[in-house]
Amino acid sequence: MPAVLDLMPYQPGKPIESLARELGLDAGKIVKLASNENPLGPSPKALATMQASLQEVARYPDGNGYLLKQKLAEKLNVAMDQITLGNGSNDVLDLIARVFLGPGRSAVFSQYAFAVYPISVQAVGAEARIAPAHDGRRGPAYGHDMTAMLDQVAENTTVIFIANPNNPTGTYVTQTELGNFLQALPERVIAVVDEAYFEYVERGDYPDSCQWLSRFPNLIVTRTFSKAYGLAGLRIGYALSNPQLADLLNRVRQPFNVNGMALAAAAAAIEDDDHLRASRNINREGMVQLEEAFERRGLNYIPSVGNFITVDIGRDGDLIFQALLREGVIVRPVANYGMPRHLRVSVGTRAENQTFIDALDCVL
Ligand SMILES: *Cc1c(COP(=O)(O)O)cnc(C)c1O
Repeated sequence: MPAVLDLMPYQPGKPIESLARELGLDAGKIVKLASNENPLGPSPKALATMQASLQEVARYPDGNGYLLKQKLAEKLNVAMDQITLGNGSNDVLDLIARVFLGPGRSAVFSQYAFAVYPISVQAVGAEARIAPAHDGRRGPAYGHDMTAMLDQVAENTTVIFIANPNNPTGTYVTQTELGNFLQALPERVIAVVDEAYFEYVERGDYPDSCQWLSRFPNLIVTRTFSKAYGLAGLRIGYALSNPQLADLLNRVRQPFNVNGMALAAAAAAIEDDDHLRASRNINREGMVQLEEAFERRGLNYIPSVGNFITVDIGRDGDLIFQALLREGVIVRPVANYGMPRHLRVSVGTRAENQTFIDALDCVL
């Protein structure tokens, strides 16, 4: 498959263990702010449930995820047949590509959008159509320009990906912008609104796209337990859509794509409001800490509503990334997104953020 040979593989955040090995450092001394993970870890309730579910690993999991779907349906006020579970929301994005894309079809997404979209699109032999992002005049710089995205919709376009908020820019599309966009989009195009950071966003004009599911039959909302819920390592996420679309996605889904421990942990995690609140609080405080540190150093950053912030360090990002590694701090270079002078930094604990700031001072 020539399309697959042209694929640029996804570059994940560097694992703590591999840096520890390379530097001969104690893994406990390394600070990783590279993959937008929850610095508080998982909910203690999720951990307890996982412990209890250990005995069950000899059994296949519930391929329909009944218990989790029931809890999600109740919490989000949707029907169980509107939910598709995935091995992370990445899995769901792949299911969408497999159902709706293929050779001769195209998908639209924005410049600077999440790097998994081009991979899912190219892997099934479809064409990627990239809309230029805002330049800062008519919307937040680096953010999705919904008008430009609509302009990119061609005859053969069947899917459009909207990351809200987007990674690595942290920018978001407002309720009005998204509502107008969905209204204008031809119904034959599936609108995928990727809300991986939904639980972190604290803005009055941020849309809860769930409310629109009954109005727009071509809407799919994706969410995950990897970010605010702190379960990235378990790999579990989901899509919300109308039942017809969910039925299509579930036809191509592997029967046991989500493991039993992940199902149990996710069901416990969504009931732990205290842990989610604490996670939001530490993120809000850490974001201010990082913003202030950048401002004091005269570094421009892209205002972010997620649990990460992307900063223009005014010089080669890869070099600074490498230098930070030698200080035991892992962040994320974003040259692969066409942002060679930026670094993306996940919001950690107060102490982790400070370690990063001190290392940055040392390196700059
Ligand atoms: C992290 C992230 C995801 C979620 O990935 P999972 O597969 O659920 O771990 C999806 N979309 C965006 C934009 C992300 O940053």
